[in-house]
Amino acid sequence: MVTCSVLRCTNPGSAFTVGSQRLVPGYHEAYVCAEHKALIEAGAPWDMEGNLVLMGMDLAPILANWRARPSVGSEGFTLTLEIAGQIKPVEVFLMPSEARTLSSFIDAANSDGGVCA
Ligand SMILES: [Zn+2]
Repeated sequence: MVTCSVLRCTNPGSAFTVGSQRLVPGYHEAYVCAEHKALIEAGAPWDMEGNLVLMGMDLAPILANWRARPSVGSEGFTLTLEIAGQIKPVEVFLMPSEARTLSSFIDAANSDGGVCA
């Protein structure tokens, strides 16, 4: 018998689910239990690590707010990330090459049938 692929869930994996994002190589499909399948279909965020499905507290925390401040000195900018459930925001300095990589992810997400479609 197959067990649900959601981390720590021991229910039988009676339903089949397929990830819709093709940017990442590796597994995109898993057997999940009826409850998790319902959550996924209701729009709950989920991800996969190897062939394990991550949801809820096992998923990276949701970004609540963010802002960017250009640097006065070096080329680049400071990115401030406010994470849901955390009081202290995280700040990172992005070099231009990292900013370009980040931008390519955002471009891909935009062209994925977003608001302008
Ligand atoms: Zn489950």
